[in-house]
Amino acid sequence: MDLGLEWDFRERAFAHLRAVQLRTGGPVRQAEVADFDHLGERVRLMPTMRGIWKPRQLGAALSFVTTFSGGGIAPYEDVEGPDGLLRYKWQGVDPLNADNRAMRSAMENRLPLIYFKGIAKGLYEPIYPVTLVGEEPGQMQFVVALDEVSVGHWEHRNVIDLETVRRYAMRMTKVRVHQPVFRSVVLQAYGRRCALCNLGHTELLDAAHIRPDAEGGDPVVTNGISMCKIHHAAYDAEIIGIRPDHEIRVRDDVLVEEDGPTLRYALQGVHGQQLQLPRQRKARPSTELLDERWEKFLATA
Ligand SMILES: [Zn+2]
Repeated sequence: MDLGLEWDFRERAFAHLRAVQLRTGGPVRQAEVADFDHLGERVRLMPTMRGIWKPRQLGAALSFVTTFSGGGIAPYEDVEGPDGLLRYKWQGVDPLNADNRAMRSAMENRLPLIYFKGIAKGLYEPIYPVTLVGEEPGQMQFVVALDEVSVGHWEHRNVIDLETVRRYAMRMTKVRVHQPVFRSVVLQAYGRRCALCNLGHTELLDAAHIRPDAEGGDPVVTNGISMCKIHHAAYDAEIIGIRPDHEIRVRDDVLVEEDGPTLRYALQGVHGQQLQLPRQRKARPSTELLDERWEKFLATA
């Protein structure tokens, strides 16, 4: 295997993927990552038929996929081991088939890969670079590290306290997997628009938590609302509240302020409007969580 080529290919593929994501706002479809240019040849970055992908130009796997399992609400089905690191199942049961060998080559050479995590039908959140650090043949799976620290933890796993490793890995999974997936799933549910003002610039959109992350709010679509940056910040600051019947309310003292167009249109202008909900019923915000948050707004206002 030409390691120089492996690394060069991967670095350019990651840069290409980042450029694609600037256009898509995060998640990608298979066809959007099917024309990476390698020495004049078009190469796919994602497998089409199976979970593991090794372009013929490479000696080791480049990417692997988990498909969305349906239901409208993205489940977090990443299997985590007792050490908190993600696990990825072999392709089939034969350890020596081409896919598993390609993964093993990437693992043995510590080559970076792309993990495409399915978040809706045909839509994937790319998580990269990730590294395969080990294999558990008994469970027919590979061990996936999300960053260099976790690679180090794995390599020194016999001398590092398991709880330390687990806590770090869980935090990395939250930042590198759950947060971007939460954002993409919520934005997708709301048609990539702010639920308050209908702004459709993906770069300016966030997934706001109804029950805050710091208070144990789950990164699931029913705990999220797609909002532009200003409405997200206003919601977090309790300047804006959302009634459980989805009416948007602006805090009294802000309603009577006088100022320029941002205050007038962006804040005062949404008072009394209805939140624009996802078409899919099961992606809509949980009434219980809205209730809880509304009580908090009332207590602050
Ligand atoms: Zn907005």
